Amino acid sequence: MLSIPSSIIQNMIEHARELAPHECCGILSGKEGEISDCYRITNILANMSEQELTRFDGAKLSDLQRLSPEERADIAFQMDAREMAMAQRDMRSKGLDLLGFYHSHTFSPARPSLTDITIAMEFESYRAKLNFPEPFHLIVSLEVADQPVVRAYRIQEALATEVPIHTLN
Ligand SMILES: [Zn+2]
Repeated sequence: MLSIPSSIIQNMIEHARELAPHECCGILSGKEGEISDCYRITNILANMSEQELTRFDGAKLSDLQRLSPEERADIAFQMDAREMAMAQRDMRSKGLDLLGFYHSHTFSPARPSLTDITIAMEFESYRAKLNFPEPFHLIVSLEVADQPVVRAYRIQEALATEVPIHTLN
């Protein structure tokens, strides 16, 4: 179960619209499945080197390498590490947990891509060491421009399972 205030849902949709056609990304924090804070994080993929791109899976990597940095940010995201650390410091000072990540899909449905699953599994590989709760992965789709869709997933063992979102007013 995941509860999110409608103001945060709106904030994520606005963030997605502001950065379109690039993908936006950010972090959600809160307590016990209830989101209370949203942090917008810069998508640094636009400035990544070829070497840094090797973390992506083979098929996606060859696609990404063929694109200009600007174009890369249209189809994938990588969060700025410094901004993530700052957000995590802020949530610790408020006694909140990192509960989820969000990003946008400008031209595709609100379903995790292969790259999204790769990134989620990479996070899983060190999550236990950091003592973080299992995160929700949220996707904002602008595929139908005037009907944005927000969906949440758990991603375990390379499998994404949708989790219903309960919107709080
Ligand atoms: Zn994605």
